[in-house]
Amino acid sequence: MTDNPFFEAWTTPFGLPPFDRIRPEHFPPAFERAMAENVAEIEAIAGQSEPPTFANTVEALERSSRLLNRVSSVFYNLTSSNTSDALEAIARDVAPKLAQHHMRVWLDPTLFARVEELHGKRDTLGLDTDQMRLLERLHLGFIRSGAALGADAKARMTALSERLATLHTLFNQNVLHAEKDWQLVLEEGDLAGLPAFARAAAAQAAKERGAEGKYVVTLARSSVEPFLTFSTRRDLRQRLYTAWTERGGQPGEHDNTPLIGEILALRAEQATLLGYATYADYRLDDTMAKDTLAVERLLLQVWEPAKRKAAEEREELQAQARAEGLNDSIAPWDWRYYAEKVRQAKYDLDEAEVKPYFVLANMVRAAFDTAGRLFGLRFEERPGCPVYHPDVRVYEVLDSAGDHVGVFLHDNFARANKRSGAWMSSFRDQENFDGAVSPIILNNNNFARGEPTLLSFDEAETLFHEFGHGLHGLLSKVRYPSQSGTSVRRDFVEFPSQVYEHWMSAPETLRTYAVHHQTGEPIPEPLLNRLLAARTFNQGFATVEYTAAALLDMAFHTLPDPAGLDVPAFEREVTGRIGLPAEIAVRHRPPHFQHLFAGGGYAAGYYAYLWAEVLDADGFEAFQEAGDLFDPTLAAGLKAIYSAGDTRDPMELYTAFRGSEPKIEPLLKVRGLVEA
Ligand SMILES: [Zn+2]
Repeated sequence: MTDNPFFEAWTTPFGLPPFDRIRPEHFPPAFERAMAENVAEIEAIAGQSEPPTFANTVEALERSSRLLNRVSSVFYNLTSSNTSDALEAIARDVAPKLAQHHMRVWLDPTLFARVEELHGKRDTLGLDTDQMRLLERLHLGFIRSGAALGADAKARMTALSERLATLHTLFNQNVLHAEKDWQLVLEEGDLAGLPAFARAAAAQAAKERGAEGKYVVTLARSSVEPFLTFSTRRDLRQRLYTAWTERGGQPGEHDNTPLIGEILALRAEQATLLGYATYADYRLDDTMAKDTLAVERLLLQVWEPAKRKAAEEREELQAQARAEGLNDSIAPWDWRYYAEKVRQAKYDLDEAEVKPYFVLANMVRAAFDTAGRLFGLRFEERPGCPVYHPDVRVYEVLDSAGDHVGVFLHDNFARANKRSGAWMSSFRDQENFDGAVSPIILNNNNFARGEPTLLSFDEAETLFHEFGHGLHGLLSKVRYPSQSGTSVRRDFVEFPSQVYEHWMSAPETLRTYAVHHQTGEPIPEPLLNRLLAARTFNQGFATVEYTAAALLDMAFHTLPDPAGLDVPAFEREVTGRIGLPAEIAVRHRPPHFQHLFAGGGYAAGYYAYLWAEVLDADGFEAFQEAGDLFDPTLAAGLKAIYSAGDTRDPMELYTAFRGSEPKIEPLLKVRGLVEA
């Protein structure tokens, strides 16, 4: 194939991928050539006659794998945001091959011998701090992949990685299939209770699915939650809730349940080969938390207070339900509905009254302007750049001097061919090693499109959250690509994203950007005050559903021998043991818990959000104590964290900003789990 865009230099604006020319059939030969090139690079590094130096080994590795990174980043961004049957088939085929390729590199004995030798004399090499950390983490990466094992164990590690890559891919595709497959098609008469924005979104979803004139509720969170919150039809709420919480686990060829058992067994075997008692011990060894004990201590510190708060909330909801004539205990599909009623009664706050003030375009501007005030960044839209879908908006990011920082892509709407959730990713990472390379960062959300698109308070928070990850990528100022942006420890990576959420809910922000989409009036001060007063409302529920998921994750991954596990029975056993209230489900049930099973990234790592929340609640308090949410000194300290990537230890970075280690009290206060 001569016209494969991956085999050319890209002359597009900012070096964006030439999406208009990339077709699915370009990927298999591109992956093949990229892996072959990488093998040749590795052989050249490992096989050279020169003794190992930092330059000819570590830096040479940093310089390798360019084509593979380019092909992979385009491919996996497309399979996440704009997939197709053709891409899904390639993903299934390429996943085990890539896993095998990576293991071939990590388990190369000659290469490892060079890294081992350098690591042994690292103190004599005259390395800078970032170089020292790079070498130490590279060495650790080899050890943790199995480079120090015997030949048989290495072969087994490779086989396990290949199989896991296939299972992760299948798991992800099954969830996508389940979400595409199911929809609730409604008539006008079925919409009782739904406010205008939810009706409009359901009409739009119907139109996109060829059912014009009807209304469709899908399994996207942005579609499900408004229906569960407002629909007076208990029967429909139950049907939707059941489909939503059981997605991915329906018996048949797309059932994820058997995959989970196999994934857990293979991970446990990997951990055993590497000398750990359980997979969680293996994973946590390379985190801020360091061990399962620290994680469990944190989770239990919030679990009991959260359960107590949820029990109080439940009483209020039950009383409300009784008052409205429900002669039954409230069920899980009732929680959001009655919570909204209680919220309205207690805080005189109506989600449908709030939402018209949260116009997507204004909230995007709020996110951009906040980055301007904190970090001196400017976002200028650049229409006409190549994109993979017309929904995507492209912005050039400039610093206060007007110099180019990077490119930011924003893809905000739910689509049938996009996976659920919200996430940040990149097409190119910042580095400054062989000349400056600027980042190309992407944010995906799954908002229901409207005219205009209106967000809930939570969705506006999600927008800021992902944008915080985006800034972590954009502000990166590191030398080596493998230390760039978000490539930090898993339980630190949520700090830059979560701390940024605090600026969304700051009164200063809301007074300026929460403007009514019809009248143009800013949010009335009494409504704003009620909105902020209600922030800790229903936090018992939110903390319980999250923490239960994190405890379930830890339970799965601390099993020493999960082979043959009955996953549904185990889930029941764990939720029973921890005392999960019957009216609340874990936030992600196992058959669609993509954090754990669509890849290894958050396996034994779902706690990371709460871990980082200790830091972000404590960190934001610094700005409040200063009495200025844009305090220049603190902002500069925060910017240093966003810029440092993985060049320094995360706790060192944090304490340099805050002046001390974080305390848990601010988190408990933010969630309303202790008296403020
Ligand atoms: Zn995040």
